[in-house]
Amino acid sequence: MADSKPHSEFSSLFFQLFVFFVICICNQSIFSDESKLNAKQNKILKETFVYLESLEPKKIKIDKSTYARHTQFESFLKFPFSGKKLSRWIQSRIKKYSFGSTGDYVAMYQDGEVLLGRGFFNLNRLDRVLVLLHEARHADGKLYGHVVCPDDFPFLNTRDWKIHPAGKKGCDSVPDGGYGITASFLFELGAYGFLNQTEAAYRYNSEISRIIRD
Ligand SMILES: [Zn+2]
Repeated sequence: MADSKPHSEFSSLFFQLFVFFVICICNQSIFSDESKLNAKQNKILKETFVYLESLEPKKIKIDKSTYARHTQFESFLKFPFSGKKLSRWIQSRIKKYSFGSTGDYVAMYQDGEVLLGRGFFNLNRLDRVLVLLHEARHADGKLYGHVVCPDDFPFLNTRDWKIHPAGKKGCDSVPDGGYGITASFLFELGAYGFLNQTEAAYRYNSEISRIIRD
């Protein structure tokens, strides 16, 4: 028993080193050059959610049969259209935001964390909501990962023309992935009069264009 004290000191030192090592790993960012959002970026993010939460439906502004034919929001999201609920839906899926370079994307999702590129903060509030909705869908698993868009993909990226989806992993093969979710949201915005029909339709069509049926 004479050596019990040194041994326990060694164990304790070993334990402390182990804890230190684990903390280092946990603090390491998943994205290589990410940083925390600055005050201005945090404000923009907050304003995005305030806008989303202001979108509470009142009266449907289009004819009922058209609404019934195209509405998919509730079947995809499992609750009736509500900006407040949708805000919670996003927040339950994205736990952390950071800022960094996102290459050919406006934002990237990984393990409950979203990396926002510079472009995100230059978008208008509706486009920022669409990006967050899209990224939040990735939290629901591999099923909602993207497939490669066809090499002859003819559609423009509505948010940034420099981003060419052709041949890149920017399309969906399922109807209720990131693009299906944003399309279903845009349809409700048009139906409830938050957007005029022209704007709602072109945006809706654009999201839908990323859903590839093979
Ligand atoms: Zn995506």
